[in-house]
Amino acid sequence: MSHGSSRTSDSVLNRLVRLREELARRQVPALLVSDVTNLRWVTGFTGSHGYALVTGRDAWLAVDSRYTLQAAQQAPHMECKRLTSSGSENLAALITETVCGDLAIEADRMTVAAYDDLRRRLDGTVRIVSQEGIIRGLRVTKDAAEVDSIARACRIADDVFAYMCGIIKPGISERDVMLELEWRIRKHHGAEVAFPSIVVSGPRSAMPHGTATERVLENGDLVTLDFGARVDGYCSDITRTIVLGSPSSEQRRVYLTVLEAQQRAIAAIRPGAAGKDVDSVARGFIADAGHGDHFGHGLGHSIGLDVHDGPGMSPTGENVLAESMVVTVEPGIYIPDWGGIRIEDDVLVTFHGAQTLTSAERGLLSL
Ligand code: ZN
Ligand code: ZN
Repeated sequence: MSHGSSRTSDSVLNRLVRLREELARRQVPALLVSDVTNLRWVTGFTGSHGYALVTGRDAWLAVDSRYTLQAAQQAPHMECKRLTSSGSENLAALITETVCGDLAIEADRMTVAAYDDLRRRLDGTVRIVSQEGIIRGLRVTKDAAEVDSIARACRIADDVFAYMCGIIKPGISERDVMLELEWRIRKHHGAEVAFPSIVVSGPRSAMPHGTATERVLENGDLVTLDFGARVDGYCSDITRTIVLGSPSSEQRRVYLTVLEAQQRAIAAIRPGAAGKDVDSVARGFIADAGHGDHFGHGLGHSIGLDVHDGPGMSPTGENVLAESMVVTVEPGIYIPDWGGIRIEDDVLVTFHGAQTLTSAERGLLSL
């Protein structure tokens, strides 16, 4: 077994310990996990359908015949069980055999139809109780193996941005930039894209989440790339804005405002800091520069198995930063009919403060 996979399996074992501690804290005797991302986090199994059941004593993973071999390989520490069909006819019987007391479900991750079906099949033998955010709450703090995967995804993003600086020029379309970027991630790095890449240029850069169109890049354009790679299931998420040709004084001024806001926010990150306080460091700086109305979204979010893996820093959130969280810091200024500038980096919250995981050129680049 390679060093990497044994570390991953230690990491998964440790998650089971943390999950059991959290179940005990919430006085939940058993949890049924059905959300595929949470299933992957708990078990290491990467298939598209299955159930894990975790109690203080038992931990099993039930999959249908498509996945029995894969489950045994990927989740050696779980007791693997077979579902008789993808409709999970015998799931209720497996639960009744294992659970004494209440069964918690992931109320925020289960459809009403799946819940009704399960309740009907259990037929009163086990009482179902709703729980929300148990695993998502645990997922927000990363272990060493997870940080390592995210850091590798960040290095790919850095490389891809440097590569794209040699591709982007007047005359190329947003869509061709996007295709070239995603090709580089997949072909050169053997990774996957973390989410559909954002490429917006000129006045379109004022749309924070615009998608690439056939618009052809022109001299004087602001061009924003927002993309990420996925390694071992873990995402990076980076944004850079560049200028084609020499920047105007307004482009330069707005760029430096966003960059300074970002750097001040990163400097304010530490365990125990409230997300909204870090957000207000960036937001206050941008407002003082006269752009208070031009920064509408939150400062950042947690990244992990999902690109939006949990709360990060926003004006209204109650999230408090803790050691081993990985969050984005992405202030932006978007001016209608003029364009927009966003700079986004991924940082690990450490005892000493923020450790930046993405390191692509952050100064204003003119191509
Ligand atoms: Zn992004
Ligand atoms: Zn982001």
